[in-house]
Amino acid sequence: MKDETYDVVVVGAGPAGSVTAKTAADRGLDVLLIERNPEIGVPVKCAEGVSKEIEQFVEIDSRWICTDILGMITYGPDGTQVRLSVEGSEVVGYVLERRLFDKVLAQEAARAGAEVRVKTQAHRVIKEGGYVKGVQVTAGGEELCLYADVVVGADGVESRIGRWAGIDTTLPLVDTYICAQFLMCDIEVKRNYCEMFLGQEIAPKGYAWIFPKGTDSANVGVGIGGDVSGEPYRALDYLKAFVNAKFPDGKILAEIYGAVPLSGPIYDTVANGLILVGDAARHVQPITGGGILEAIQGGTIAGDVIAKAVREKNLSKRRLMEYEKRWRREFGKVLEVGLKTKNIVANMSDAELIKFLRPYAGDMILKEYSERAFLKELIKRNPKILFSLARVIF
Ligand SMILES: Cc1cc2nc3c(=O)[nH]c(=O)nc-3n(C[C@H](O)[C@H](O)[C@H](O)COP(=O)(O)OP(=O)(O)OC[C@H]3O[C@@H](n4cnc5c(N)ncnc54)[C@H](O)[C@@H]3O)c2cc1C
Repeated sequence: MKDETYDVVVVGAGPAGSVTAKTAADRGLDVLLIERNPEIGVPVKCAEGVSKEIEQFVEIDSRWICTDILGMITYGPDGTQVRLSVEGSEVVGYVLERRLFDKVLAQEAARAGAEVRVKTQAHRVIKEGGYVKGVQVTAGGEELCLYADVVVGADGVESRIGRWAGIDTTLPLVDTYICAQFLMCDIEVKRNYCEMFLGQEIAPKGYAWIFPKGTDSANVGVGIGGDVSGEPYRALDYLKAFVNAKFPDGKILAEIYGAVPLSGPIYDTVANGLILVGDAARHVQPITGGGILEAIQGGTIAGDVIAKAVREKNLSKRRLMEYEKRWRREFGKVLEVGLKTKNIVANMSDAELIKFLRPYAGDMILKEYSERAFLKELIKRNPKILFSLARVIF
């Protein structure tokens, strides 16, 4: 079996992996980024919505912006509307073209000096003396041992790198969103608004969404709680019912299925010689199921910490804990509050949901568009229901 040696091997070329690879390569490390699929960014398993906060981490490029978003409209089971926007600001977010976005991020990693290989699948971690020392992969029918000072598990929701390394990455069904989505055209959509629909009939323990992609097309999807999914009540069944009601004449251009981890971060995101980023670390906002932003934030921190640890020749869990401390400081609290909110809202009956949404009905104008500002406003307007959350966020 052929051996190769790098400073860092990053498994998975989604946003988390590419940003980690770029950041580490920028700091002079010898980085290999591997992806099992033949094309980075494909298949797209995402509704592609992201808040404007992304501008703090990535330079916006018109090639991968599909739609400017001016606000979000949430509909309750009785049709109550909550329209979220930002004071004095036009654009609050974007619907991306992820097939391009993911490629551009990988391209940036390559430009920074990282080697990028597709059709290369990790199937085992190499451990020696209590340290992760690399991964074994299959590439073009060939078996390779890729040795590295640090392995990064950026292998998404199905992540196995952490588990192979001995970390408990169990994702209970109750904390998983099961999703089905159509890319639809020939439909009438609100051109610059993302729409979310709540209700046990529409999407039990989840929601349905319409994220516009141009004037007459959109990602139309449904995510339901994993614990309530099963024949004949799968996400696809709810999606078909939603589409029949909303867009009976619309055309379906693509159909995707996927899962989203809503558990909040796993307990350990580092081990000796190993870091987990993005969905692999369960860095996903449990209220919305959005994880693009956290994947990029976490990847930036991970690449920086890895560079320092490699230079210091200290790849111990203790040294790599700097990554865990920094991501917890940057977005840990927002995920914690999001998880508590999700656990309250997901278990509401339709009658309770209607009551819950009442204080927000109409326009909800935030001072800034961030998950933190949104959660603060939620608590401010509904202190009774969300009292326990206030202590965590304030
Ligand atoms: C239906 C749906 C809708 C969503 N909508 C949104 C949204 O609107 N906004 C938002 O912010 N988030 C959304 N998300 C979540 C978002 O897609 C993820 O949080 C984000 O992609 C996480 O990035 P990542 O790099 O961690 O993982 P991924 O983007 O999943 O990338 C992981 C990569 O690792 C590769 N890989 C896996 N195993 C191996 C292996 N053994 N060897 C080599 N490569 C491997 C995979 O092929 C994949 O390319 C949605 C998810 C779903 C399923």
